[in-house]
Amino acid sequence: MAAKTRILVPGTIRERVLDRLKESFDVLRIDRADPSLLARSEAASISGVAVSGAFGAAMIEHLPALEIIASFGVGYDGVDAAAAAVRGVTVTNTPDVLNDEVADTTVGLLLNTVRRFPQAEAWLREGRWKREGAFPLTPLSLRGRRAGIYGLGRIGLAIAERLKAFGLDIAYHTRRPREGVPYAYYPSLPELAEAVDILIAIVPKTAETHRTIDAAVLRALGPNGVLINVGRGWTVDEEALIAALRDGVIAAAGLDVFYDEPNVPQALIDLPNVSLLPHVASASVVTRDAMADLVADNLLAWFGQGAALTPVPETPFTRKTG
Ligand code: NDP
Repeated sequence: MAAKTRILVPGTIRERVLDRLKESFDVLRIDRADPSLLARSEAASISGVAVSGAFGAAMIEHLPALEIIASFGVGYDGVDAAAAAVRGVTVTNTPDVLNDEVADTTVGLLLNTVRRFPQAEAWLREGRWKREGAFPLTPLSLRGRRAGIYGLGRIGLAIAERLKAFGLDIAYHTRRPREGVPYAYYPSLPELAEAVDILIAIVPKTAETHRTIDAAVLRALGPNGVLINVGRGWTVDEEALIAALRDGVIAAAGLDVFYDEPNVPQALIDLPNVSLLPHVASASVVTRDAMADLVADNLLAWFGQGAALTPVPETPFTRKTG
């Protein structure tokens, strides 16, 4: 029975997802999540979706027999989960399997930002060590710093554990304090920024997190302050950040995510006190494979056992059969 279930895959997705799905399902691919690419009769045959990226309300509307949207990635802001919930459609994401990878990347990006390792390596590669001598001492160091984590969720906690091992004092802000953690809680983001000199953002893209790291928060972080963003570019007022980095309002920033990817403002690229990565926090083969498997396993569990493995909080449904 499962062999006849039809899964739609719009756009590109990791090949491993397709290989896994083809073992058990009939897979239909279209170029992108656009209702005009799918005739009504074909749309009616779709029971599930596997997607990496956007899947909006118009697509959900267009698929009358849709039961589940398995989204690749832990952040599912591209999928209209509210519209899915209204229709009784389950949305799944890929939590936990990427925590360690993203936390590792965060520490790497923090070190690159503070100790300027990319610039130091470029110094060697360009022959400047031989010609000009030692790379200049970095004005910034991790030593003696206090880190504030904006979003102490699954990934935030993995970041905190790593930074604790680095000897840093840790504080955090979330909407509600997290039970059973030894870190100091601040009930607002400006208060957290005031209390620390490293601010690490790892919150989801929601209406509430939009441009919350603004000029006032950057001022509170202060002239020795370092901002690291590995959550979503949406969370940062990029104009305010560029001004703060240019004017010495904060010392440096390390960014893996941007407001309008892949368009990174030239003004940001031109700054000497930033370290920039092209959204690679989870981008290793082993972790992307684990994410791919969780996308496929969610669909298999839904159509096989009647419940998804990792539904998002907005859609805690089980499968109606018969
Ligand atoms: P979780 O849901 O486990 O954690 C989210 C955390 O953010 C929670 O502590 C939550 O606490 C807090 N939070 C949510 N909304 C707010 C708010 N308005 N104000 C303050 N805190 C808030 O998610 P994960 O840790 O698994 O992932 C976090 C995000 O990281 C993802 O949604 C994704 O966007 C991003 N990400 C980026 C990657 C990259 O490649 N750069 C890779 C993986 C993830 P509370 O609910 O109490 O407020």
